[in-house]
Amino acid sequence: IFALIWDILYPICTNSVYSNANFDQLYKSLFIYNDEYFFEKSNEIKNKYLDITQRSLYDRLKFSTNTYDANVLYRDDPVDEIILDDNGQIIKQNATIFMLTRNWELPGVLHSMRSLEDRFNKNYHYDWVFLNDVPFDTQFIESTTAMASGDVYHGVIPTEHWDYPEGNDKTSLNISLSIMEEQGMVYGGSLSYRNMCRFNSGFFFRHELLQKYDYYFRVEPDVEYFCDFPYDPFKVMHDKDYKYGFVISTYEYEETIPSLWEAVEEYIEVYQDEFGIDNNKNMYDFITNKDTSRSWGVSVVSSSDYNLCHFWSNFEIGNLNFFRSEAYLKYFELLDSKMGFYSERWGDAPVHTIAASILLNKEEIIHFDEIGYQHLPFKTCPVSYYLRIKQKCQCDFDDKLNIDIQPNSCLPKYWIHGNGKTFVKE
Ligand code: GDP
Ligand code: MN
Repeated sequence: IFALIWDILYPICTNSVYSNANFDQLYKSLFIYNDEYFFEKSNEIKNKYLDITQRSLYDRLKFSTNTYDANVLYRDDPVDEIILDDNGQIIKQNATIFMLTRNWELPGVLHSMRSLEDRFNKNYHYDWVFLNDVPFDTQFIESTTAMASGDVYHGVIPTEHWDYPEGNDKTSLNISLSIMEEQGMVYGGSLSYRNMCRFNSGFFFRHELLQKYDYYFRVEPDVEYFCDFPYDPFKVMHDKDYKYGFVISTYEYEETIPSLWEAVEEYIEVYQDEFGIDNNKNMYDFITNKDTSRSWGVSVVSSSDYNLCHFWSNFEIGNLNFFRSEAYLKYFELLDSKMGFYSERWGDAPVHTIAASILLNKEEIIHFDEIGYQHLPFKTCPVSYYLRIKQKCQCDFDDKLNIDIQPNSCLPKYWIHGNGKTFVKE
């Protein structure tokens, strides 16, 4: 019977059509026999399969001189390691999970919490901090407290950190909002969305509830984490002194930030020496390189030197002290003085990304590529088959929504101009 199954499956799986689905099925069906011969054979197929997926990936990574081996865990960070202190307590970092949200988003908030608790936090019990521009209601407070495995704090944002800054013309604000609304810009006419982007750009790290922490993990309603976390990302941040971590990188809508780059250029000019901005050490090239031949092939063209690449900030793990630094505070102050959060619709994602790319060294930014994640309309799923199995992932690398293999992903640029990726060859 083995031979029979083999005869049927082998040609299917060694021929040109390799999909994750049929491979996964095949591998499982062979694996359950636990037979040496089949184990060996299935390994043979597996290697062929990996060879092909890797080669196509490799073809797309034409710039890389290394081979990419999805078969191995390529980072030397600890895997599945929960570290206990002498008293048997889990070692934790000075960190919190953080969500800015609204009362009516409660179902989505609980969904995200359940997912992150199951995949990561149930082992660590990190605190959750919830912030809102109006007070949270009783149901919100009770349900989120029940869902969390750590301590939970709910706070209100001071109006001066949220509202349209006083002393500015409200008539011109309303005119720009209605123009952007008419242009069909996403959230074009929304004032609250702008307050939110400005708050996330310049104020969240100043809130009193976040003062005691060094690290935050930003979460939004209705997101999903597809895989068990292979490590405590806060510990990785701490041990390797990373300042900013992301999972997805894509292009910003240029119409939301027409004059952002001008403000950034002014900042660089004024503060380059004071803050030691060094384009040989930072990721300036990541956000300015426009060479499309070395990417999946997208042709998103911007009219400034900024190429529109940004880390998607709905997932963020960061060092709060970076945002509290003089260099970042001055950066936000200069940007805020241009009023672009309102006269345009500057997002906190490009604002954070540009700051991280000019003020940090490459080595201080990490791509958490073992973390499966979804915030619609995009998702990301680890490329390594073994890793997906090991981390019990409920996602597929070949998924249409996987941004990492889409033309509008900025990952290829990050691999070239960022900290790079460790490509391991056996
Ligand atoms: P999108 O992801 O860009 O489509 O924007 P979201 O609507 O998801 O908003 C981003 C984050 O800010 C989410 O966590 C929202 O819950 C939160 N948010 C957006 N607008 C407001 C607001 O007016 N008040 C509060 N308290 N939170 C907001
Ligand atoms: Mn969102």
